[in-house]
Amino acid sequence: MKKLEISYKDLKPCDVLVAGGGSAGVAAAVSAARSGAKTILIEKSTFLGGMATGALVTPMMKNALCIEGATPSLLTKGIFAEVCDRLVKAGGGARFKDGNPGWFNPEIYKIVLDDICTEAGVKLMFDNQIIGVYCNKPILEAAYILNKAGCFSISGKQFIDCSGDGDLIALSGAGYEEGSAGARQAMSLRFMMSNVDLETFGKWLSENDKTDDSPVYKLDNGDILLSSAFTYERDWTLKPFFDDALKNGDLEKEDAAYFQIFSVPGSPGLMAFNCPRITPEDKTLNPLNNEDTSWVLTHGRQMIKRISNFTKKYLPGFKNAYLSQIAPHIGIRESRRLKGQYVLTAEDILNAKKFDDGIASSNWPIDIHPSKIGEKGQLRHPPKGDFYDIPLRSLLPKENEVKNLIVAGRCLSATFEAQGSARIQPNCFAMGEAAGLLAGKRIVN
Ligand SMILES: Cc1cc2nc3c(=O)[nH]c(=O)nc-3n(C[C@H](O)[C@H](O)[C@H](O)COP(=O)(O)OP(=O)(O)OC[C@H]3O[C@@H](n4cnc5c(N)ncnc54)[C@H](O)[C@@H]3O)c2cc1C
Repeated sequence: MKKLEISYKDLKPCDVLVAGGGSAGVAAAVSAARSGAKTILIEKSTFLGGMATGALVTPMMKNALCIEGATPSLLTKGIFAEVCDRLVKAGGGARFKDGNPGWFNPEIYKIVLDDICTEAGVKLMFDNQIIGVYCNKPILEAAYILNKAGCFSISGKQFIDCSGDGDLIALSGAGYEEGSAGARQAMSLRFMMSNVDLETFGKWLSENDKTDDSPVYKLDNGDILLSSAFTYERDWTLKPFFDDALKNGDLEKEDAAYFQIFSVPGSPGLMAFNCPRITPEDKTLNPLNNEDTSWVLTHGRQMIKRISNFTKKYLPGFKNAYLSQIAPHIGIRESRRLKGQYVLTAEDILNAKKFDDGIASSNWPIDIHPSKIGEKGQLRHPPKGDFYDIPLRSLLPKENEVKNLIVAGRCLSATFEAQGSARIQPNCFAMGEAAGLLAGKRIVN
């Protein structure tokens, strides 16, 4: 058998190399390029968006201060707000009645993100995986990438790790952590169903939902935005359907442990499922272990088969719906986290701590999805009407570890619990934007 020859070739160097094109990577690349730096974004998939598109994580969570009687004030602005506006203009975005501008269609999102990057002058390199680095400590000199044509190196002056999994952190030898004392966040495999009768389901939901405010909202263009959820832990509206399906053997306990659905703007009849959560009883799965992730994919697809059949049989408006997409990528909530100059903590979030070097503000709760069925999750909020900051130091490796590496997104320097809040998409945008600005500033100076 002929062996694949791996020979390294040098590609043209750049000022700023961004690893990964999720929410953080797009914002980092755009802000670096806009500040005049020659910027390359390396992405292992064939599209931008990361979890938002590849794992079908829609909508973005609301990050806003809500004071009674006043219009909600968004805590993330900048490139995040620009992207939300572009989504609306492209027919794939909407603002929910609670003021959240982050409802979007993942397919249109891919195009919007291509546009904002190319317009800023970012060089996009898809289908390229970073597999190594050349680090002349404490300076990161180059990244090695692999694609179908072979293996290449690209040298850069500044590197931004937006890989979600902290690949550059690990490859360059900077300090990092994973999980917490054996605990991890659950992985999920999300999916979509088409041809849902949203009028019928929305009507049923409006009549039966027990919350104060109906989760159904009709836009001027006729699109219906709605969401609903079910877990064992809370007595949610859909409970009777789950009780019946479990009794009749149409669902297994793991399928019913967590269920959440959102309609999708610009796509009448489309429903996005924030489930199944893959939570075996007997082991804690590791998102960086290929045996575990391969099992998650096959096991998750079996769960999706049961859950989609359940919706057709039990839920109003789903009779003629069909499974139209299973996410190409596993939804990974946390894996590697930088151990940087400042480690954001749960106390910082719960005490609404502000920092002189704050680069992002958020009031999203600590939101931990247990990795084992039967374990309790966490949902702990910052004080009402207040927010915490993420400091720039949470994006920087320790002094003298790697001087020209910046980290942004879900692999920031935070404890397991704090990352459970900081990881939402608006925060990833804010972190990415700050990282790109800093990299751009370092190039100019
Ligand atoms: C199931 C689930 C539900 C969630 N629900 C919500 C929600 O409702 N709302 C919300 O706002 N947030 C939610 N989140 C959190 C949020 O979606 C993510 O934390 C956020 O999108 C992460 O953005 P990121 O840019 O840091 O990383 P990612 O989106 O993971 O992007 C990383 C990118 O880097 C690329 N990459 C990785 N390694 C390499 C490499 N070696 N070389 C090249 N490219 C590489 C990947 O392909 C990817 O495109 C959820 C997350 C999950 C998993």
